[in-house]
Amino acid sequence: MTRPESIKVLVLGGTAEGRELAGLLDAEPGYEVESSLAGRVTNPRLPPGRSRIGGFGGADGLADYVRSEGIRALVDATHPFAATISRNVAEAAGACDVPVVAVVRPPWQPDPADTWERVPSVAAAAAELDARTAGRALLTTGRQDVHEFAHLNAWWFVIRVVDPPSKGMPRRHALLLDRGPYTLDGETDLLSRNRIDVLVTKNSGGDLVSAKLTAARELGVDVVMVDRPPRPDGVRSVATAAEAFTWLRALG
Ligand code: NAP
Repeated sequence: MTRPESIKVLVLGGTAEGRELAGLLDAEPGYEVESSLAGRVTNPRLPPGRSRIGGFGGADGLADYVRSEGIRALVDATHPFAATISRNVAEAAGACDVPVVAVVRPPWQPDPADTWERVPSVAAAAAELDARTAGRALLTTGRQDVHEFAHLNAWWFVIRVVDPPSKGMPRRHALLLDRGPYTLDGETDLLSRNRIDVLVTKNSGGDLVSAKLTAARELGVDVVMVDRPPRPDGVRSVATAAEAFTWLRALG
């Protein structure tokens, strides 16, 4: 709802935190929230309030949008692996001189019983599998990265994605279309039924999809963990949507 004198906030989303923050702002008098989604999934979960879908055309396009729409604050609530849009948000905020905050959910930390193989990228995760004796892997790194594993012909994969990948896929695989949240029972069943040797995951953090790590630990399944890309300098970050809401309210 548009209110006189309301503060327009643009939330770059595509995450549970983005949806939660949009809900908090939409219910708060004096704020007008618009969420921006990339348009990667066919049936996105739309947040409360206004939404727009699709890219801006880089940092300059985003800066133009901020100016033309009279945006007064920016929130980067994108996924920890969405490095390009995070850089663009930081750059656009600087160019427009609008305050910006990032909601960065804490990364998962290994339990003492875990033996994660940590790698710096999805390509490095594929190289790690290639260096091992071939087996059966559960791939949960997202549809955009599946092609990195396409050459691993000796491995068999369960590929769990929200929408089918559009680029190359490994020859031997089962495609599982699902979007969570997931339970420990469900993840344990998935890993054992498919006799999975290795779980490949990004270190996304959060509770909604973390049951796979507990299931892997309990079943003795190896984990190849892709570490997060670096964040842009100079952007304050908070861990939750509630903290971002508090920060926005303090702007007045
Ligand atoms: P990315 O590589 O950082 O961004 C690539 C381009 O996509 C950006 O330059 C921008 O295009 C556009 N874009 C990304 N997020 C956008 C947003 N929220 N609103 C408008 N345009 C956006 O991003 P990505 O890794 O492909 O992720 C895309 C979206 O999916 C993000 O919103 C993210 O929160 C969500 N997501 C990503 C992952 C993941 O593992 N990467 C997982 C779950 C959800 P322009 O330069 O044209 O503006």
